[in-house]
Amino acid sequence: MTVPDSYRGYRGKALETLKSFDAMVWSDVEITTDAGSFTGIVLPRSETADPLHIVLKLRSGYNIGVAAESVRAIAVNGRKEAHYKIPEKAFPFDPAKPRVKLLGTGGTIASRLDYRTGAVIPAFSPGELYGSVPELADICNLETEKLYGVFSENMGPEQWIGTAQAIGREIAKGVQGIVIGHGTDTMHHTAAILSFMVQNSPVPIVMVGSQRSSDRPSSDAALNLMHSVKTAAESDIAEVMVCMFGPTSDQYGLLHRGTRVRKMHSSYRSTFRTIGDIPIAMVSREKITPLRQDYKRRRKDQDVVINTAFEEKVSIVYYYPNMKPDIIDSLIDNNYRGIIIAGTGLGHVNKPLYPALKRAHEKNIAVYMTVQTLWGYVQMYVYDTGRDMMELGVVPSANMLPEVAYMKLGWALGQTDDLVKVRQIMMTPVAGEITEREPSNGYLVFQGGIPEVEEFISRYRR
Ligand code: ASP
Repeated sequence: MTVPDSYRGYRGKALETLKSFDAMVWSDVEITTDAGSFTGIVLPRSETADPLHIVLKLRSGYNIGVAAESVRAIAVNGRKEAHYKIPEKAFPFDPAKPRVKLLGTGGTIASRLDYRTGAVIPAFSPGELYGSVPELADICNLETEKLYGVFSENMGPEQWIGTAQAIGREIAKGVQGIVIGHGTDTMHHTAAILSFMVQNSPVPIVMVGSQRSSDRPSSDAALNLMHSVKTAAESDIAEVMVCMFGPTSDQYGLLHRGTRVRKMHSSYRSTFRTIGDIPIAMVSREKITPLRQDYKRRRKDQDVVINTAFEEKVSIVYYYPNMKPDIIDSLIDNNYRGIIIAGTGLGHVNKPLYPALKRAHEKNIAVYMTVQTLWGYVQMYVYDTGRDMMELGVVPSANMLPEVAYMKLGWALGQTDDLVKVRQIMMTPVAGEITEREPSNGYLVFQGGIPEVEEFISRYRR
């Protein structure tokens, strides 16, 4: 049964409740519930939303879900018409400004909510983006292309390869920088694979997303967009980066190297952190401030190398105490060609897994060890158990993050079956995925570190 537009997205108990009080989508209502009363606009819901809640945009701008079951009364006080269209203003062209391409893959950043009504509408054409964030025109001439429209848990090899190829095309056309709009949940996975698939880029490749949609008073969408577009247009850092909020406030953004970054908080806007290193730079609306000098510089040529090899039969196994060997056995039996283990501490799993690891080795499956502590290096020489595992063919992967090792192993096995060559590819850093040492202050600086601790460390640092 299709629900008419006036009840868009509502089903079950929530639909019944709205109908019984003559309230519809866009009705301005006061809902009385067991937990108090709430005043706001009834928002439409997506087709996949649950049938139990009515979603209200409160006067404060925040959205809340009201359990239909707790509703005692709904008073309808009016209606606020939806506006699906953002005013499209022609993006001004300025021959003096650099050309930046924004490639969209989806996620929260790809949608804009109408401030007045709360409708979710795609904002993607340059005109729409200019309508919502006019500051972008002060920075560059922006072109846009929607590659995909998915939440980032649905990104996979097809989309990674398609995005890498699109980057190659844009560089060949001579753009001065590329921004990739992406859902935040798996942005670090995509940043890692793009760091491998796109080699020797002459221009910045900046991934950006938003933790809060743009109807929310606390949205990070506009500022992240401005920071990322500025980085793509003006910075001399020709690497794959993630550009998101630095601190929890909107003081500045951080540029994280694509192979050292990870989403670390489910809801904070400052969710992305550089792990095992310090970020490449800070970015504000005024300037880009490098925090290190060892980055690849912008060039004028277009000699990018796109290598989209990828083997899908690779898995990450997150070790937990009392894991049974059947987990490894099932990967072997299902013809997996590569396994990344996220081991405990310096890189450990329990003894009962050893025979399964031996079997994996005999079947020519590439097995690499990473650490679930995220910070620090795999060190398999410290305990006998580590040495035993190396004898079973498990390869320690230094300080490569588990997700990065997963991507790199897929990329390496996509290029060759020869495990000696795979090992060469895995252990030769191409984009900062393995570093020689962690900086003494990397754990803290610009990442919520405490000044007192920083001062203490500086007394002992050589
Ligand atoms: N679930 C969304 C995604 O990763 C969240 C976001 O866009 O931030 O696509």
